[in-house]
Amino acid sequence: MYINEIFHSKKPVLSFEVFPPKKTENLNKVKATVAELSSINIDYMSVTYGAGGSTSKLTPEIAGYMHNDLGVTALSHLTCVSLTRPQVKSMLSDLKDRGVRNILALRGDIPDGAEFPLPDGYRYASELTADIKRFGGFCVGGACYPECHPDSDNIDKDIDNLKRKVDAGADFLVTQMFFDNNAFYDFRDRCVKKGIHVPITAGLMPLTSANQVERMCVLSGGASMPSAFTKILSKNIDNPEALRQAGIAYVINQIFELVSNDVDGIHIYTMNNPDTAKRIVTAVDGLFDFK
Ligand code: FAD
Repeated sequence: MYINEIFHSKKPVLSFEVFPPKKTENLNKVKATVAELSSINIDYMSVTYGAGGSTSKLTPEIAGYMHNDLGVTALSHLTCVSLTRPQVKSMLSDLKDRGVRNILALRGDIPDGAEFPLPDGYRYASELTADIKRFGGFCVGGACYPECHPDSDNIDKDIDNLKRKVDAGADFLVTQMFFDNNAFYDFRDRCVKKGIHVPITAGLMPLTSANQVERMCVLSGGASMPSAFTKILSKNIDNPEALRQAGIAYVINQIFELVSNDVDGIHIYTMNNPDTAKRIVTAVDGLFDFK
């Protein structure tokens, strides 16, 4: 199913994100995790793409597994930073052959010292979006950044660029993780003022360990944290179970507040952890109209 059809048929939409294994030999382990996650009530599941790495072929494999073996609507991430246009075409044919109909079109981070853009390559995700739309047969999502993409001078310019991506054909947007809902509301208002009217789904990450807190600061490009959250984290930094419970409770609260403020969707960065995902969804699934 095309994800834009899901957004048109219900509100809010609930989705999960998983990542592929770093080593091919761990593929079956990740497939087992995906199967467990698919038993939870959700509308679609996405799988990330390791930019340029040798494991990038595992992304279409897992997306195909979601679609063909588990019957879950799959969203395959695709980054173009290290791909030429012919390579993208062959990725699109591969995804189509596997029955995958949804792509999150991304530029990816530019690797240090890498040639960029490649001859016959891409500079921005909007160019990839336009190419996928020209190829045809896919619903295309794009990434967005409530607290500004780190390469952008300011949020205004970043949203002008986001509008280019939507004009190129992005059907919906998924946000970078955030912990302060006010940052999301402010961003959503700015998007509407700039003429962006596609659904924006809120990316939320449950922080359940001290390691994750550190990694999040790097991954998110510095998402801001409300003081209630930092206080509870610092109080419990040496108490793993309390930290886990606090991280889960925080996301559940974020979801209740976002849904009451009319969010289009919630996208949970599961970190391949079905237990945490289950605990969150069990607490909120009544809000999501699963028939
Ligand atoms: P773009 O939309 O191209 O934007 C990149 C920068 O260029 C921004 O600062 C933007 O303002 C600017 N820009 C865009 N168009 C123009 C223009 N015409 N003129 C001037 N400036 C412009 N990374 C991975 O490697 N694999 C993944 O699976 C992955 N999944 C992600 C999922 C989500 C929901 C998010 C939020 C991020 C994800 N990322 C992933 C990270 C992402 O690849 C990086 O943040 C990357 O640096 C930017 O990608 P983008 O698609 O947002 O790029």
